[in-house]
Amino acid sequence: VPTALAPLLASLIVAATPTIPAPRVEAIVLGIAQDAGVPQANCRCARCDRARRNPRHRHFASSLALLDLTDRKTWLVEATPDVREQLDLLAAHPLQPLREGRTPLDGVLLTHAHVGHYAGLIHFGREAMGSRGLPVHCTDRLASFLETNGPWSLAVELGHLALRRIEVERPFPLGAHVTVTALTVPHRDELSDTVAFVIRGPRRTLLWLPDIDKWEKWDRRLEDVLAGVDVALLDATFYSGGELPDRPLRDVPHPTVEETLARLAAWKPEVGARPRILLIHVNHSNPLLGPGRREARVVEAAGIEVATEGLRLDL
Ligand SMILES: [Zn+2]
Ligand SMILES: [Zn+2]
Repeated sequence: VPTALAPLLASLIVAATPTIPAPRVEAIVLGIAQDAGVPQANCRCARCDRARRNPRHRHFASSLALLDLTDRKTWLVEATPDVREQLDLLAAHPLQPLREGRTPLDGVLLTHAHVGHYAGLIHFGREAMGSRGLPVHCTDRLASFLETNGPWSLAVELGHLALRRIEVERPFPLGAHVTVTALTVPHRDELSDTVAFVIRGPRRTLLWLPDIDKWEKWDRRLEDVLAGVDVALLDATFYSGGELPDRPLRDVPHPTVEETLARLAAWKPEVGARPRILLIHVNHSNPLLGPGRREARVVEAAGIEVATEGLRLDL
């Protein structure tokens, strides 16, 4: 081939090569509330009453759906007590992420054994969907708890749930286009340990961290973890201390939103921009749920958002 023609030939070859579409992965937020949801059972606070009157102000327990749109696979992050309604949200979704039949999902990922994060597993068992071999990805300690305590042990014995033990700090694949790494976080570990998930799609990486006692108790710096992700969904249970009039916050420790804002304000990332930060696991007592605007304005001014049910994140 004459040298003058080589570039032309090369460009023709490139044009003739069929382009393989890049894999598409999306996350959909299915819940933003603390374990008990909003309204909380039997709570007569103004916020819960408002949510009873107007469904627009209701919130499900924090959960995320992961959709591999290329391979048509769907995973759930957390199995909350609101999973019935959350599956309805997915069923009504234009992307049609659920399969027909008893096992509509390709798996569930669990962070820990507090009720808002795993009690929804009951709906995959014999009395409800009766799923077949639904993969449940969780740590060894949580898997052992599920295996040895009813009613979960029955669902495992009957083959509705298939426990998949994950090793912390070691990335594992969910299908062909998603990789997940569990990070241990300090939390009230009565029945299991607790993890956060770093979820890596073809384009972006997401941090799912609904529960942690305090940022300072973590064996890593929040800022270092944030520097490695594009979007972070973070524990925002309480806005400030003293929010629970009848319960000291030390019994249910979480970083307050005020503490998180102060940390982030002091953080000057060396390379790249700060990730998009979305607040989740919001308690019914948290003024960020309205109706007041002061706290919402403070958070907005810091460039941070409260997540919303239905929010789509391209990964
Ligand atoms: Zn929780
Ligand atoms: Zn309430």
